[in-house]
Amino acid sequence: MTAHLTPEVRGLLSADALGWLDKPPLDPFIDGNWRTARSDTHIEVVDPGTGTPVTSYTAASAGDVADAVAAARAAFDDGRWSELDPETREEKLRHLADLLAADAETVAQLEALDTGKTLAEARLDIDEAVAVLRYYAGWATKVEGSVIPAPRRYMATGTREAIGVCAAITPWNYPLPILMYKLAPALAFGNTFVAKPSEQTVLSTAYLAQLCAAAGIPDGVVNVAPGAGATGAALTATPGIDKIAFTGSTRTGQAVMRAAADTLTKVSLELGGKSPQLVFADADLDAAIAGVMAGIWTNAGQVCIAGSRLIVDRRIHDEFVAELADRTRRLSLGHGLAPTTTLGPLISSTQRDRVNALIEQAAQDGAHVETAAELPDRDGYFIAPTIVTGARPGQSIEREEVFGPVLTVLPFDTEDEAVRLANDSAYGLASAVWSQNASRVHRVARRLRAGTVWANTYGVFHPTLPFGGVKASGFGRELGSDAVEHYTELKTTVIDL
Ligand code: NAD
Repeated sequence: MTAHLTPEVRGLLSADALGWLDKPPLDPFIDGNWRTARSDTHIEVVDPGTGTPVTSYTAASAGDVADAVAAARAAFDDGRWSELDPETREEKLRHLADLLAADAETVAQLEALDTGKTLAEARLDIDEAVAVLRYYAGWATKVEGSVIPAPRRYMATGTREAIGVCAAITPWNYPLPILMYKLAPALAFGNTFVAKPSEQTVLSTAYLAQLCAAAGIPDGVVNVAPGAGATGAALTATPGIDKIAFTGSTRTGQAVMRAAADTLTKVSLELGGKSPQLVFADADLDAAIAGVMAGIWTNAGQVCIAGSRLIVDRRIHDEFVAELADRTRRLSLGHGLAPTTTLGPLISSTQRDRVNALIEQAAQDGAHVETAAELPDRDGYFIAPTIVTGARPGQSIEREEVFGPVLTVLPFDTEDEAVRLANDSAYGLASAVWSQNASRVHRVARRLRAGTVWANTYGVFHPTLPFGGVKASGFGRELGSDAVEHYTELKTTVIDL
């Protein structure tokens, strides 16, 4: 089937991306084969930059999901992956990383088309996914056990073993990196895998499934069940899964955790955020403005770590906001694939309408709403970057995760007040402190309740840096050495000497 692309978008895609879109492999990928989904639910793949349906696929049914889990179970139980020498798993994962790196530009274009993000952002996503895969490929040969000082008549060891079948349920904002945070450590330690990508962004996951097959990862080790919430719910209800790694909204995370209670499956939850950026008067203000902009306008604000609450010293509030608005006006909204675009659309009309409703509510509640930068004169799900000042703590715009390009600004008079405002949120994913006073940075960082504190920077991700939240932002850490805890079980062996 030829993809229904507008002439503009067709002109922005490479021959390789267009060729792939002619026949995208969007069926469930089970035991090394693409199988026709057994359901009546057809889902459109929409280009958010034009609002045009590009192609469609059929969602995996509960039966398809059960088959995917059974395939992963069989692949785990017969040891075709977990019993390989660790260096063989490492080699295959490095091969997969090389294949992904070789196709990075094609995958980045598909990701920009699917999510609406700018091509520059999509390229960073694919680079990150490759880096995470290479990092965990190295871990396959690095996990060691221990000899436990049990009573002398026993020899006791602690060894790390694969858990079994791991399932991933992922959101639409960073489809490939977030999948890779889960898939790479799971596979490195010998687990098998079932992925359920967001219904809105299935392309890069489908592409990766093809590359897994090409990299010689045995059939059944990686399986994909595309579909919406019903497919995700079927996955969480299917017995035979040993761990579910979920990234998405707090509400869905709660549903996943409830379902996991019935099957007694381990879960890790990476959920929403409403992250504060604290700017003190003694900060490098130029750097702080750049950091605040990156924190909120990146990916059009559809970022779990979006620094959506600017908490700024009252003495510099007006000057800081004026300069921020001025620089924001220079952003260029447009189709993510267009080279001039620096801010893309939101994922869907539903999300755009939701964000608009929150902005209108803020204005009705008495806040001052400033629209910075022009809306483009074109179809697509655009929201102009918006700065909200004068909101009262507790207003919906100040409490709810907007997931769009909307920044709320609150002034503070003292360091204590700044910390109190920052921590006055149901969420605790990320945070930042901007100050050139080292003692203040340490003092404030210690008091912020968040999984990550950045100081004089924002949004630094690296495969070595553990990432996750506290409070309503979830629990469990992805990336870094913490993945050993999440994707292996500790076995104690006691031998009577
Ligand atoms: P979402 O919760 O709507 O969907 C996430 C995934 O869950 C999708 O694959 C969806 O199909 C699936 N799903 C929906 N209902 C389900 C159910 N009942 N059972 C199982 N699965 C179900 O989230 P979204 O709108 O795709 O993504 C945006 C949200 O994700 C935001 O809240 C954002 O903060 C969060 N997020 C968090 C992180 C993080 O690392 N903490 C990263 C990215 C996004």
